[in-house]
Amino acid sequence: MNGKVYLVGAGPGDYKLITLKGLECIRKADVIVYDRLANINYLKEAKEDCEFINVGKASSNHLLPQDDINRLIADRALEGKVVVRLKGGDPYVFGRGGEEAELLRDEGIDFEVIPGITSPIGGLCYAGIPITHRDHASSFHVITGHPRKDGKETKEINWNALANVKGTLVFLMGIANLKSISENLIKEGKDKNTPVAFVSWATRYNQKVITATLENAYEVAIKEEIKPPTLIVVGSVVNLRDKLNFFEEKPLFGKNIVVTRSRIQSSSLVEKINDMGGNPIEIPTIKIEKIENNIELENEIKQIQAYSYIIFSSKNAVEIFFDKLNEMGYDCRVLYNIKICAVGLETAKYIKSRGINPDIVPKKYVAEGLYEELKDIVNENDRILIPRAKNARDFIINKLSEKCSVKEVITYESVIDSSKKDEALKIIQNEELDYITFASSSTVKNFITLIGEENLNKLNDLKIISIGPITTKTIEEFGLKVYRESEEATIDSMIAAISQELVLN
Ligand code: SAH
Repeated sequence: MNGKVYLVGAGPGDYKLITLKGLECIRKADVIVYDRLANINYLKEAKEDCEFINVGKASSNHLLPQDDINRLIADRALEGKVVVRLKGGDPYVFGRGGEEAELLRDEGIDFEVIPGITSPIGGLCYAGIPITHRDHASSFHVITGHPRKDGKETKEINWNALANVKGTLVFLMGIANLKSISENLIKEGKDKNTPVAFVSWATRYNQKVITATLENAYEVAIKEEIKPPTLIVVGSVVNLRDKLNFFEEKPLFGKNIVVTRSRIQSSSLVEKINDMGGNPIEIPTIKIEKIENNIELENEIKQIQAYSYIIFSSKNAVEIFFDKLNEMGYDCRVLYNIKICAVGLETAKYIKSRGINPDIVPKKYVAEGLYEELKDIVNENDRILIPRAKNARDFIINKLSEKCSVKEVITYESVIDSSKKDEALKIIQNEELDYITFASSSTVKNFITLIGEENLNKLNDLKIISIGPITTKTIEEFGLKVYRESEEATIDSMIAAISQELVLN
């Protein structure tokens, strides 16, 4: 049976600028063939056994010639696979998607094209430049600046028409030919003072926009070392950028922030950094290992009605407990007369998603805060169950045991993901990093175990952000200096600590 090919437009770069349909295709693909302009983070959405094939480097330096790419896609589909051809922007805008689709049709292979936000429109938008505007341009023209080797395209370009039409001109792949582009336009009568913008890596955290005029465009591009991928915009709409530049004004725009949490836990921090225009770089220091065949947990669930309180202090504790409950054929109704306590808003959120509103969520999101709330209400008849991680802090168990019976059940363990050492070292040695965040004492310890104490000096140039006093203490015990501590022990407050600092400077 034949497979199917989806030519998917990945959009201009910002992770969230892909269509729902495009994302759906990525999630079901057996093979993804991608090139350098497609944001590679989409690959994380793919199935575990999906095959990834990188076929593109810089514009003039393709890893694979187009004919080979066409063949590869067709062959995988003929093997019966679902193939996604992921392309930056829109597949039919200078993406050679048309050629790929033609071949598929010729070979009788089923295909679909999923449009994407093309860079001359979406990229300009993020640079604060509307491609049309009633006062400036009533048409636009998207032109390739990369002539075919056989010279056909440059001859096809009607410079006289382009120079005299009033609309916005956007050249793609034009940097190498910038000199002849600007000369041709001026020669054919375009005003040499026409504003020009170079928009590089549009919609990404490293977007860079430089403005010039048609006359000095080439000179400016050389001086500013402008490289592909860059959009060259010619027209007075460029002037609107001063007023409409919303993207580069985001609080974390351009900031590289290392996030040290386990892959499962870091998503909300990563998402928030992205939304605020920053670039989150994840170092997964720990991985969560669930205790398999947890007989002890099963036994406690069987007699769950004997408990009067259950304390959860992490998302993982919640997920593992409720999964087991469901696996044993129960649901949340068996907990109906048990008080549920959550340390941390995130933990509370996961409890809610299991259909229960936690009874007690201490204002201070640490074990001490919970103890304060419980100490006057529990008595010797109470029984408290605490399903949680191995090697968690003793505080709450010790203190509550003075008042009533407390049962700890270990449900998971955070272990160091030592396979990531080289990756982690490589990341922290990148000179462009601005911040590193630590959201718990254990991540500090795990991170340092992972990179090795001998490499601690590599953190000297980084601003260290800590989630709260306990984490700060651990960081300082290693001789490192905390740059800022967040006011509350939450992810939001940690982000605020970074963005407030940027505002103050
Ligand atoms: N299919 C793509 C275009 C592919 S041609 C689309 O619809 O956007 C490749 C050229 O597109 C690059 O050389 C550059 O000029 C432009 N380009 C694509 N994405 C870009 C981005 N994020 N920032 C700047 N230019 C980009």
